[in-house]
Amino acid sequence: MFLKINVLYGLFCLIIAFSVLLSCRNNNKVGVSNNDILLNYDSVIDSIITTLSLKEKINMLHGNGKFSSGGIGRIGISELHYTDGPLGIREEIERDSWEPAGWTTDSATFFPAGTALGATWNPDVVFECGKAMGREARARNKDVLLVPAINILRSPLNGRNYEYFTEDPFLNKTMVVPYVKGVQSEDVAACVKHFAVNNQETNRGSVDVSISERALREIYLPGFKAAVVKGQCFTVMGAYNRLRGDYLCENDYMLNHILKKEWGFNGAVVSDWGAVHSTVKAANSGLDVEMGTDVRDYNHCFFADPLYEAVVNGKVKESVVDEKVRRVLRVVYGIKKNMNNRSKGAINTPEHSKIVYNAACEAVVLLKNENKILPVDVSKTKSIAVIGDNSTRTFGSGGFGAGVKSQYEITPLMAIKNKLGKNNEISYAQGYREKYVRGKNDDVTYGRIIDYSVDEMLIKEAVEIARKSDYALIFAGANRHTESEAVDREDMRLPFAQETLIKEVASVNPRTIVILTVGTPYDIKTISKMVPSLLISWFMGAEAGNAICDLLTGKVNPSGKLPFTIPARLEDSPAHALGAYPGSDRLVEYKEDIFVGYRWFDKQVIDPLYCFGYGLSYTSFDVSDVKLEKKDLTPEDTLSLRIKISNVGDYDGAEVLQVYYKVNKSKIERSIKELCAFKKVFIPSGHIEDVEFRIPVNELSFFNHYTNKWEVEKGQYNLLVSNSSRSVFETVSILVF
Ligand code: BGC
Repeated sequence: MFLKINVLYGLFCLIIAFSVLLSCRNNNKVGVSNNDILLNYDSVIDSIITTLSLKEKINMLHGNGKFSSGGIGRIGISELHYTDGPLGIREEIERDSWEPAGWTTDSATFFPAGTALGATWNPDVVFECGKAMGREARARNKDVLLVPAINILRSPLNGRNYEYFTEDPFLNKTMVVPYVKGVQSEDVAACVKHFAVNNQETNRGSVDVSISERALREIYLPGFKAAVVKGQCFTVMGAYNRLRGDYLCENDYMLNHILKKEWGFNGAVVSDWGAVHSTVKAANSGLDVEMGTDVRDYNHCFFADPLYEAVVNGKVKESVVDEKVRRVLRVVYGIKKNMNNRSKGAINTPEHSKIVYNAACEAVVLLKNENKILPVDVSKTKSIAVIGDNSTRTFGSGGFGAGVKSQYEITPLMAIKNKLGKNNEISYAQGYREKYVRGKNDDVTYGRIIDYSVDEMLIKEAVEIARKSDYALIFAGANRHTESEAVDREDMRLPFAQETLIKEVASVNPRTIVILTVGTPYDIKTISKMVPSLLISWFMGAEAGNAICDLLTGKVNPSGKLPFTIPARLEDSPAHALGAYPGSDRLVEYKEDIFVGYRWFDKQVIDPLYCFGYGLSYTSFDVSDVKLEKKDLTPEDTLSLRIKISNVGDYDGAEVLQVYYKVNKSKIERSIKELCAFKKVFIPSGHIEDVEFRIPVNELSFFNHYTNKWEVEKGQYNLLVSNSSRSVFETVSILVF
């Protein structure tokens, strides 16, 4: 009898598995969208759920390894495998600890970090990087890729800024969508993180954010909303911190109300690693999968045995558990797990290196180029001094948090020697040394309090080679220890003895060029006066050295734009001006409200050192014939703005046209201007391009916290056509009626 039941049950499961496969095939044929894929399997998923025991269901809702959560082996659904980005597919760690697993086959491509991608202002580049990373994740048999990271750069000191795109919600939401689509096109779920207002590392595990509804909606949420609604991401990661008293992984308002109900998110909410604090509250507040809780036995996770008991005791309804399982299974089918047409992936391919090289070329920002000292005319140079610890340093790993065991990484010195060494004498000096002082707070600072003291010998060597060379190239800025997860920076100073080094070298060689590897704003006021040319490079991936060398010599023309404001002083930036960072008593009040980044500098009439959206080129561009198709529009219309842009310089190049809008009269306080469209346009020297912007009028709306709705005010608006937030080519007006 028992055997008979078992056989029947097995048969039943087989039929379900077969019908799942059939329905997958059919759905793939008609090419339904990702979101449809998530929902289209619901009838099959629901029939699976009816066959599962409570234990089996709960097994799928918590980690069963550091980077895996349970499947249902009995019906052939294997566990989900997670991996970190955003720098590339993380090296393998032990199943149950953070120790490296010691594999020799887990190297991967090192991709550009978030700020680098933000600085490209090119969604196509972001798509390519996301897709290539998804492909690498598949090659390592991963299901969920913990990217993109899209928190807003609220303070220059946040140790994780380099992982994020920008200070601006419009740029953020424009970049996140292609990233998610790229990753998911390779049958890997993107996990958009960290939801939400996770804008500092100081006290990140407990800090409570107090913020107005308007600032939440206008600044911090648009990226997440776009990832869900337009990107159709399969998973979202709940953050460590709290919002209005509740941890983000047990925040009913954020998870159930906004994410799931308002935005219609159909995928799974995964906790950040170790970010869960309760069973009943988290389960009822919309968290679906608990990951990373530090337990000896995974059955002790909040969403393991305690959840089972909570269901048995009636504190969590079984239907709530079913809904979580449904969401996890949607991800399982969304990524075609256990289907034979799933992407197999590829890793460390030449194509991926090319993608990384292109992204790095588009990311570098030229801040200053006095007397057109750049590009270096290689036919005329005989000697180049390469100076600075960062010219030989790799950035794929280091510090706290996710890195990548990069298969290779081209440093600037390697590239310069390779590309220019034949006709030039290339000399090298370290210039400064990475040094730290031990402090009282080593448990908080991870022993990373920067030592600024000067090594006379290193500076002397650098000065000597600089004096004898045609050009002195100084590679300075951050490294993966000075900008790192879990700890914010102490201040905005350039680390170690870099400022002295730059001063001394510049005093002996007027052709000193500084290239700063950074992921966040630094105080570069002094050095930018000292040298004729200054560039921002980023944690830009395996091809960074090649890209930088080609940019310096003009083989590639810089086209990156700052994705954030560089203030002259820390006190000029909003959270610091208002004493609203990092908060006290584990409460941080976002007093600057919506005035984050350039919105604050405009409102307070403060000149930044370098403004948002800024970046030079070796060529110059002229804008003409700015024309609106229609000047009178309704809130439902989409406006069409046409612009002619010509490259009037000697180099082929790309310009990022930016459109900001300004409300002329408003019933509430609005930003002086807000970005509402941009396009990167490549134009050969001497050519003209026609560019059309199509901007939905509702892009000009604000969040009305009285009605809890987005609202477009009637009246006149100016549209500022610019190539940075502070340089306007032309202004046109529209009337919204
Ligand atoms: C980070 C996440 C990361 C997770 C897993 C956490 O500490 O905040 O961004 O994905 O660890 O490594």
